[in-house]
Amino acid sequence: MKDLIEISSKTYEIYEKVLPKVSEEFRKIDDLCEYNNAKMMNAFFACHVSETHFNMTTGYGYNDLGRDVVEEVFAHIFKAEKAIVRTQFVSGSHTLCKTFFALLRPNNLLLSITGTPYDTLHEVIGIKPNPSSLKSFGIKYDEIPLINDDFDYDKIAEYLEKHQVKVIEIQRSKGYSTRKSLNILKVEKVCKLIKKISPETIIMVDNCYCEFVSEKEPIEVGADIVVGSLIKNLGGGLANNGGYVVGKKELIDLVGESLTLPGEGLDVGPSLGANKLFLQGIFMAPTVVASALKTSVLASAMLEELGYKVSPLYNEEKADIVLTINFGNEKDLINFCKGIQSGSPIDSYVSPIPVSTPGYTDKVIMAAGNFVQGSSIELSCDGPIREPYIAYLQGGLTYDTGKIGILKAIDRLISDE
Ligand SMILES: *Cc1c(COP(=O)(O)O)cnc(C)c1O
Repeated sequence: MKDLIEISSKTYEIYEKVLPKVSEEFRKIDDLCEYNNAKMMNAFFACHVSETHFNMTTGYGYNDLGRDVVEEVFAHIFKAEKAIVRTQFVSGSHTLCKTFFALLRPNNLLLSITGTPYDTLHEVIGIKPNPSSLKSFGIKYDEIPLINDDFDYDKIAEYLEKHQVKVIEIQRSKGYSTRKSLNILKVEKVCKLIKKISPETIIMVDNCYCEFVSEKEPIEVGADIVVGSLIKNLGGGLANNGGYVVGKKELIDLVGESLTLPGEGLDVGPSLGANKLFLQGIFMAPTVVASALKTSVLASAMLEELGYKVSPLYNEEKADIVLTINFGNEKDLINFCKGIQSGSPIDSYVSPIPVSTPGYTDKVIMAAGNFVQGSSIELSCDGPIREPYIAYLQGGLTYDTGKIGILKAIDRLISDE
């Protein structure tokens, strides 16, 4: 293999050295994959998915049976009352934005209990000024940072005693921060606390990158509404775009009115050609997520061997598919990203460079030789060009191709020392 993909003996030696220890982790991932495949199949059985559901609607999108069954399958997997899964959601950020606007009214208070939210939400909320932000509509915002990579339970309790909070946002994955991602047990603990003090507060979870990484999803541990992107875990690499929202029926209906229009809500919205790909995507998702996890474990073990600080460690419990690598210098970050690009199926011959990106403050380098633009369930690596030069590595549709990407990236990294 190593000659076919042109990597050095040194890189291959590191790979062979870490192989025994990562194999043990792979067995755990296989168990998780088996469980989540059973959960997914159970949803297909219960929802009577059939060939007619591959048909599509155009125009208004009335009576789109395929779209409806896709949403039933998602609701079943999440143990939610209802789901929206639509191509009309442009991205995960758009889905989060629509959900905020659906749930919040002027003078309501939005509270993030995971510190400052994901970069693209700053203008949505109004943390960074924008004439169309929630803030511009009189919606108030506050945040409570995490402490030691966990919720600040005391501060949250104290805050809820004093203020009436309409929506609490929990972002599980780390985004472009250096904290750890939040596992489902922590989400459960904080949901219990919130419900005890303020049962009326809506708990909304940004679940990006976390789907199928554990056996439970957030609705099962007390969240009211959960949001994610289809060009991440649940699209299985096949969805061409879209987002999903699952949760309580009355909240999902509000998101529907916000996505389309008041009075028509979820009854409109043509699926165009997406139904079959959405079904195939969710069908593949447990296996694809497992491949991404294995790719991440391999990268983590090899980079640790080379002395880089990585999180999570190869044998640490995972809450999402993202691996952060602290390179400490710009050159290593850029080389690693270039190596990932050179190990991608699409555009392997081009070289990524840091550029300004809408919604992000610093210049960002993105390696993504993908079938779907910006899809980060496919092997991809990106990082803002700022100290301490951290790369965010995620994805891998299959372990064998993910591995090739990692070997190419590490080869590039160590050949330019
Ligand atoms: C990726 C991500 C988003 C936004 O998703 P896009 O589809 O890229 O817009 C939001 N929150 C978190 C934590 C993410 O990782």
